Amino acid sequence: MAVTQVSNTQPFPPLMPVYDRAGDLMFERGEGVWLFDTHGQRYLDAVGGVAVTGFGHAHPALVKTLCEQGAKVWTVSNIFNTPVAVRLAQRLVDLTFADTVFFQNSGVEAWDASVKVARKYFSAIGKPERYRVITFQGCFHGRSLSAIAASKAPKMVNGFGPMMDGFDQVPWNDLEAVKSAITPETAAIFIEPLQGEAGVREATPAFLQALRRLCDEHGLLLCFDEIQCGLGRTGTLFAHEALGVTPDIMCIAKTLGNGYPIGACLATAKAAQGMTVGTHGSTFGGNPLAAALGNTVLDLLTAPGFLDDVRRRGALFSAELDAVVARHPEVFTGRRGKGMIQGLVCKMPNTDIITALREEHLLTIAAANNVIRLLPALIVTDEEIHEIALRIDRAAVRRESAA
Ligand SMILES: *Cc1c(COP(=O)(O)O)cnc(C)c1O
Repeated sequence: MAVTQVSNTQPFPPLMPVYDRAGDLMFERGEGVWLFDTHGQRYLDAVGGVAVTGFGHAHPALVKTLCEQGAKVWTVSNIFNTPVAVRLAQRLVDLTFADTVFFQNSGVEAWDASVKVARKYFSAIGKPERYRVITFQGCFHGRSLSAIAASKAPKMVNGFGPMMDGFDQVPWNDLEAVKSAITPETAAIFIEPLQGEAGVREATPAFLQALRRLCDEHGLLLCFDEIQCGLGRTGTLFAHEALGVTPDIMCIAKTLGNGYPIGACLATAKAAQGMTVGTHGSTFGGNPLAAALGNTVLDLLTAPGFLDDVRRRGALFSAELDAVVARHPEVFTGRRGKGMIQGLVCKMPNTDIITALREEHLLTIAAANNVIRLLPALIVTDEEIHEIALRIDRAAVRRESAA
């Protein structure tokens, strides 16, 4: 058979162009909250791999763990136990509501596993007709077919064929809408206690507490996606701790490996009762290298006083950003968030301001509803917080004179 040579007049980029990547800017190396480009220029990183590098770049303790575990064993398959994975699971159980943990390689896998656990629970208790999950407008759970079906966002679902059934979406912080969405087929309510992609929106404590009561009344499972807002980002180990509500299932990822891919689905014994031998699996999930890094991240997060200091610096960050917003009413209309997850609501297109910030060598990321997100490492210092505010000031002044 003849082989046809495909020749394109427009060469397709070797990296599939699904991201609008920042032109020629390429990073080679990092140190704490700083990134260095291929020309040796230094940037203040308030993206942090999108809430991933909680302990910054090249953290000595994490580099040490990577090298030490790398010299021991990387992967053995989940048909065997490893002391590091067992230890990480035990520590997550000890630190949370959960009785059991399944490790995955990413956030979206941990979300998908969480949905599976919830559905399987109802099948195990003899109610397989209850499989539907209530989600929220603006939610982001990742890019798998199940997660985009839950999000229903046109840019994520258009062109990807028939969507998986079973997700009912309601407006944010709207209790009446949740109540009327509950049917005899509902299994669970799945919510980010603080929505990141939607523009840094926190659920009110009253709303989350009401969801817990609704779930208890109707025998539903309450599931939290703390992939972005968990693991110290808001100043508590998990965001829901400050909101006075405990879930039945939770997915986490991002900061757990500080950049080495690892996610986890945490559940109570009751919620996980359907997850028996053979019902789920993963080749790489919770491999010893990932688990070793997860353990070091937990060491750092639970070090005495660490989260207290994240809360203190988070309050300083909020105050500095409030002052910036007040100084530039033509550029910003408000601030949202807490700790090391902050959003600036923009009066002009957020992408224009993000470009101006990049010119000041401050890296930030857009979120929905014309918000700029700032997700610096949890270890950002007082001086670096002040430096972030200064750079935003300079960029805002330039946008004002350009307008
Ligand atoms: C990033 C994120 C995900 C998806 O995680 P991936 O590791 O990119 O698959 C899911 N939910 C939330 C809230 C996130 O921020």
